[in-house]
Amino acid sequence: MTHHFRRITVAVVAACVVVGLTACGSSSSGSDKTYIIASDNAFAPFEYLDTATNKYVGIDIDILDAVAANQGFKHQVNNIGFDAAMGQVQAGQAHAMMAGMNITDARKSTFDFSQGYFHDGQVLVVPDASTVATLDDLKGLSIAAKTSTQGATYAQSISEKYGFTLQFYEDSPTMYTAVLNGSNDACFEDRSVIGWAIKYDGLALKTVGDVINPGSYGFAVKKGTNADLLSMFNQGLEAIKADGTYAQIMAKYGY
Ligand code: GLN
Repeated sequence: MTHHFRRITVAVVAACVVVGLTACGSSSSGSDKTYIIASDNAFAPFEYLDTATNKYVGIDIDILDAVAANQGFKHQVNNIGFDAAMGQVQAGQAHAMMAGMNITDARKSTFDFSQGYFHDGQVLVVPDASTVATLDDLKGLSIAAKTSTQGATYAQSISEKYGFTLQFYEDSPTMYTAVLNGSNDACFEDRSVIGWAIKYDGLALKTVGDVINPGSYGFAVKKGTNADLLSMFNQGLEAIKADGTYAQIMAKYGY
């Protein structure tokens, strides 16, 4: 009997996990709830593995920690990659995502965004030795793009006009490697992120031209869900801007 009961309890808990955190989480009391935040896996300076401590660090991680402390909620970050993070949020497997994600009108059809917390856009990236100087020079070339990103969306939107082909990668380091080893001729990446990789990882890459589609990064939930979390994020962000914590975090990463 006891055995049977326990098995049912386990089944119910398991079903909750499978059905989705949103559905189950809403019935638990506020203070006990741990919000699952999906994020990118290699997107310095926003989220990246610090090999010295084997922990994820970065602007997004620090802002989340500060906002959660200010608002008194528990959270856990899943560094699973950008496209995977979007998928988890849409599937209800994560309550939100924070991944250097640009707030765009197209994404607003499936996500609700916080206030912006950083400003950036994409830039064309080529090997140091490349002679590519304008988009016209991409004719006949092969371009690397990171699945579901703004850089990929932009590259797709102009590929026919400029006559280049596209190859997709799941994360930024793999995309850079493809450009460095000649598998592809160029890629599009967020300016601050490729700037960091060139500066700190010494990649033999350079940027070409101006920033494309500059805009704000936002914290995002699946459209129409987790309004409480979104509002806590906005209030926390305002508070950490007011008390100087936000500026400290920015300074820590060189901004
Ligand atoms: N900022 C870009 C976007 O929103 C890239 C994000 C990322 O690769 N993590 O698509």
